[in-house]
Amino acid sequence: MTLIVDCFLAHFHCSLFIVISSLSFHHSQLQSSLFIHLSPATYICSMQLPSSLLENAVNAFSALPGIGKKTALRLVLHLLKQDVGEVQHFGEVISKMRTDIKFCQRCANISDADICSICANKMRNQQLICVVENIRDVIAIESTQQFNGTYHVLGGIISPLDGVGPNELNIENLVMRIQKEEVEELIFALNPTIQGDTTIYYIQKKIGQSTCKVTTIARGIAFGGELEYADEMTLARSITNRLPVNQYVK
Ligand SMILES: [Zn+2]
Repeated sequence: MTLIVDCFLAHFHCSLFIVISSLSFHHSQLQSSLFIHLSPATYICSMQLPSSLLENAVNAFSALPGIGKKTALRLVLHLLKQDVGEVQHFGEVISKMRTDIKFCQRCANISDADICSICANKMRNQQLICVVENIRDVIAIESTQQFNGTYHVLGGIISPLDGVGPNELNIENLVMRIQKEEVEELIFALNPTIQGDTTIYYIQKKIGQSTCKVTTIARGIAFGGELEYADEMTLARSITNRLPVNQYVK
């Protein structure tokens, strides 16, 4: 067994060395090609802006995720062409969103009031709780229009390597909800990762012998996917968690 592990590690290190060497080679090639076409000054500071006010705005936009300097400059120049009133309104909307937005006291979803519109909606099944990692997941599931229960936003998942433990998450409130509310079913809609599974395991242990049903969203081959390209774990789970055809094909 030790021999197998040693062989695996040796093979892994060897492969890693080859990959790193090839990356370094391509990187140095790329650098030299850049230096051929650009002067050193251009290479270090490629964007010279004529105004510090413009530069500040570009820096502010490029601090947003997914926005590079060029995109930031395009957005800022677009704003510069707008009426002063329109740009002021734009600034006020962003500022008001940051200061006035609330988090639902029950489920931690984003809300305009103390209780979010989903928790306050009597038409929804309040005995059904879907546990998600973040607000983006609530928006994604709501977009399917297939879920009529409520949510509970954890604010992350247990990940010791990233310094996220159970105490950093909205788990205690979930346990209290299960104890106080007549919860029929708890649905875990967390990413199928080791961290996701650890979080499910922890919460399950925490709620103990609760009478509510505990489920997780289905895992397996994606719709439109091809079996031969699926990884072994996904395919194995798909077979283990197979469904009766009349439940799946309607
Ligand atoms: Zn809520």
